[in-house]
Amino acid sequence: MTPPRPTVMRLFTIGDETTHVVGDPECPECQEEYPEPCPCGGLIHAAAGEEDEEGTPWPQTRCDVCGRSEEEID
Ligand SMILES: [Zn+2]
Ligand SMILES: [Zn+2]
Repeated sequence: MTPPRPTVMRLFTIGDETTHVVGDPECPECQEEYPEPCPCGGLIHAAAGEEDEEGTPWPQTRCDVCGRSEEEID
């Protein structure tokens, strides 16, 4: 059996979502408008996060290189 791609996709996890693709600017698991570029040169991925008391969802974000969230970078 030949794999469909020569390179192995590296996956990483945010919260319960385990299928974010490292280095993929069109990561299929990300929320709309993500991934975003990180100052470190990586990509910030976003997973569906918690809702606050008013029902506003806050995505959980994490860079696939440095591991920081958007809040930590700002
Ligand atoms: Zn992602
Ligand atoms: Zn980063």
